[in-house]
Amino acid sequence: MTGRRVKVRKDASAPMSFDLDLFVIGGGSGGVRAARRAAETGARVMLAEEYRLGGTCVIRGCVPKKLLVYASSFSAAFEDSRGYGWSPGEPIFDWKSLIDAKDREIARLEDLYGRNLDAAGVKHCNGRARVADPHTVETESDGTFRARHILVATGGVPFVPDIPGADLAITSNEVFHLEELPNRVIVVGGGYIACEFAGILNGLGSEVIQFYRGEQILRGFDDGIRETVARGMRGRGVRLHVGTDVKAIAKSESGLVVSTTGGNGNVENRMADLVLYATGRRPNSGGIGLESAGVELGRRGEIKVDAWSRTAVPSIYAVGDVTDRLNLTPVAIREAEAFVRTVFEGTPVRPDHEVVPTAVFTQPEVGTVGLSEYEARVSSAGKGGVDIFQARFRPMSTALSGRDEVVLAKLVVARESRKVLGCHIVGAGAAEMIQLAGIPVKMGATKDDFDRTVAVHPTMAEELVTLKVPVETATEGNSP
Ligand code: FAD
Ligand code: NDP
Repeated sequence: MTGRRVKVRKDASAPMSFDLDLFVIGGGSGGVRAARRAAETGARVMLAEEYRLGGTCVIRGCVPKKLLVYASSFSAAFEDSRGYGWSPGEPIFDWKSLIDAKDREIARLEDLYGRNLDAAGVKHCNGRARVADPHTVETESDGTFRARHILVATGGVPFVPDIPGADLAITSNEVFHLEELPNRVIVVGGGYIACEFAGILNGLGSEVIQFYRGEQILRGFDDGIRETVARGMRGRGVRLHVGTDVKAIAKSESGLVVSTTGGNGNVENRMADLVLYATGRRPNSGGIGLESAGVELGRRGEIKVDAWSRTAVPSIYAVGDVTDRLNLTPVAIREAEAFVRTVFEGTPVRPDHEVVPTAVFTQPEVGTVGLSEYEARVSSAGKGGVDIFQARFRPMSTALSGRDEVVLAKLVVARESRKVLGCHIVGAGAAEMIQLAGIPVKMGATKDDFDRTVAVHPTMAEELVTLKVPVETATEGNSP
């Protein structure tokens, strides 16, 4: 492991004898950023990480996931290439080569995280840490430390509902380390991870069935996105069943038997080699002494914090997924930055959770920022009415490939102020597009600002500046 044993000199002469200015528990997106930035202000900082530096995002989240998304997208590209005159041979995919290459890249990044901490002067240790009192942290590996401030950045853990045979399923933690690519996969859930992994495994060649309990996947997203993605995923081969709950999993000689109930109440059994549960994550706040130190936890175990990420205990702060605000890497990083500015730079800064762009790396891909059509219609921002401008079209890239897939570009606009309240895109490159579209939406741009901008042609994104007439009814509503 990369963790080093550390010695922090105890300053016996100091009147309030703190060994450290900051102890960070958790070496993920939020913890590492806070530790580095605090050390750069001259603070004495130590960080404990119990697994691998980089946390969920780097080790078993965003980064390896995106590498698998890239890997899985080649199969569609090979198919599409035929319409463009190519005759690719029968492609052969080797799971082990992919996983080995992915593991090398992750190890490189993990090492880089350690070196960046060293360069910033942050001491770090490999092992679990717990809070003993408002200023004391006990580490498994390096003893006990007195710290002026403690930052809890312990992230989240996958949640699997308690059904018979739940232990036969895996979660996103394990999916990155499978020995082989399973032939038949059942994915349970309809959120970010379920939809992304249904696409990944389908693209790599597994037969994928996805079960979602609700009416439509990606609850909380704009209905246009939900419908377009569901249609696109089905078109690419994912067998998506909505309104279906998994009741039990059992082992048999020919694989795992997954019992489901749908709308008609009948129990159906499906066979699988692998069952992947992606039914949400919970804050990782248990068993680290938080409650006995006086830190308040919410119903889901989230650490309750104020607008500056301070807990009920003045010396203890928390950032990232463990606070269950907006569970995205860039948000954890922003919260960490705001914490350092507030506590170590004397400039109180509240992390901003409004109008945050996000992407879902489904196939087809999603980029979204601001309010969904439904949210706009029920919000005060849409009080004077909401206009919907949208284009659903077959992108030029399918003209020769024959792929039957549509792209969605949708703007949700406040009728009176003309402010763009939301922008929703489904299609290749949507994640990259929304990073840029997020800037004008965050700035409060109006539809007229969009219209004044000259199109870039021929692109899919040009639709965002050429949408002229509001549509009467945009989507068949599924929300909330
Ligand atoms: P984490 O990154 O989870 O870090 C917490 C760290 O604390 C962990 O390393 C853990 O080992 C350590 N720890 C926990 N308890 C202790 C303890 N007691 N002592 C010492 N160490 C401890 N977000 C995006 O923005 N884009 C994406 O594409 C994306 N994809 C994702 C894909 C998957 C499969 C998953 C699971 C998540 C994804 N996310 C994505 C979410 C993103 O990973 C998290 O929002 C982000 O990692 C949160 O950072 P954090 O610092 O709060 O926690
Ligand atoms: P999500 O909250 O996105 O989705 C959870 C899904 O599981 C929902 O469809 C939910 O259904 C369903 N579910 C919850 N409980 C049950 C149950 N008891 N039985 C059946 N289904 C259930 O969580 P994920 O695990 O997909 O991802 C966790 C978080 O990580 C995301 O919310 C996101 O913040 C982050 N993430 C971000 C990514 C990105 O930025 N691209 C990628 C991956 C993760 P229902 O909707 O009906 O509640």
